[in-house]
Amino acid sequence: MAKDDQDQITLDALPPDYFDQDDSDNVCFLCNKPDYKTLFEVNHFEFPFVFKQCQCGIVKQTPMPNEKFFNWFFNSSAFFDVKKTENEEIWGYYDYFADESSRISTSTRRYKKFKHIFESLDRPMSIMKIGPATGTMLHVAKQNGHQVRGCDVSSRFAEYARSNYSVEIDNGRFEKMNYEEGQFDVVLLFNVVENVPNQAEFLEAINRSLKPGGYFISNYVDMENNLVEKFQKSHYFIYRPPICYTYTKQVYHNILNKFGFDVMEEQRDVRHMHLEKISTLLRWKWLLKLTKALKVSRINFPIYAYPSKMVVAKKR
Ligand SMILES: [Zn+2]
Repeated sequence: MAKDDQDQITLDALPPDYFDQDDSDNVCFLCNKPDYKTLFEVNHFEFPFVFKQCQCGIVKQTPMPNEKFFNWFFNSSAFFDVKKTENEEIWGYYDYFADESSRISTSTRRYKKFKHIFESLDRPMSIMKIGPATGTMLHVAKQNGHQVRGCDVSSRFAEYARSNYSVEIDNGRFEKMNYEEGQFDVVLLFNVVENVPNQAEFLEAINRSLKPGGYFISNYVDMENNLVEKFQKSHYFIYRPPICYTYTKQVYHNILNKFGFDVMEEQRDVRHMHLEKISTLLRWKWLLKLTKALKVSRINFPIYAYPSKMVVAKKR
C-alpha cells in the first residue's frame, strides 16, 4: 500500500485478508446465536472502526481485524502521524519505560493480593505471564521463590525484562508457542484479553498449558454500569482499534466457564498510576497542564482505574 493512501484509507479499502473472514456478523464464539446491534462507529484514524454488541452481551469490533491488520496498523502513517501530532494521546509507548516504578508498585500489590493462591502449594509454583511487558510481575514472583516465564509479542520488552530482572520472556504469540500440556501452575493475564482477535484459540491454549486445578488469574474492563463509558461514549479509550472485545462481568464469567474454568473470586483491580497517565487516557489536557505546573503529574498513587476487575479462575 502506498504511503499517501494510508491517510485517507477507508475500512472498505483495506484488503479483505486484513480481517478474519470466518468471524463475520454471522458468528459469535460465545453464544453461537449471533444477533448484533451497532454500538459505535469510531473515527480515530480517518476510517471507522465499528463496535457491535451481540444479544449475549459481548461487544466486538467487526469485521474482526487479524494479525495482518495489526502488523499494518502499528506501522502505518495513520498510527504514527496521529502519535506525532497529538502526542498527549495514549497511542504508543513513548513514556512506557519511565513508568516502571508504577508497575513495580502495582505488581507488588497484586502479588500480596493473591498470596493465598501463589503460596497455596508447599513448593514454588511454575508461573507464566502472557504479555508481561517489562516483566515486573514475574520479577516480584521470582523474588518470592517461584519459577517464572513470560511470553510477549514485543522483543523490546523481552530484552528489558532479561537485562533488568533476569526474567526469561519467549517472543511470540502465546497460542502459537506450543507449550507443554499442563506445564504451568498459574497463568497470569493482565490488560491483554480484550486485544486478542481469536478468543477461542487463545483461551483453549491457556487451558491446555495449565495443570488440572491450576489457576488462571486475569483482569478485564467491566462495561456494566461503567461511568467512564456512559460519560465518554465513543471517545472512551476502550473503543479503539487494538480492542477486539469488551465484556460485562456476566459475559466474562460465561467465557471462562465455556473454556473450562470455574470462577473462584473476583475483586476490584487497584493499580498504581499517576495523573499524567490518567489525564492522557481521559484526554483531559487541562488536568495534565495543571498537574505538571504543580509538579504532581508523576506521583504514584493507588487507584481503582479503567474500571477493571481481577478474576481468579481454576482449571476444571
Ligand atoms: Zn453472542
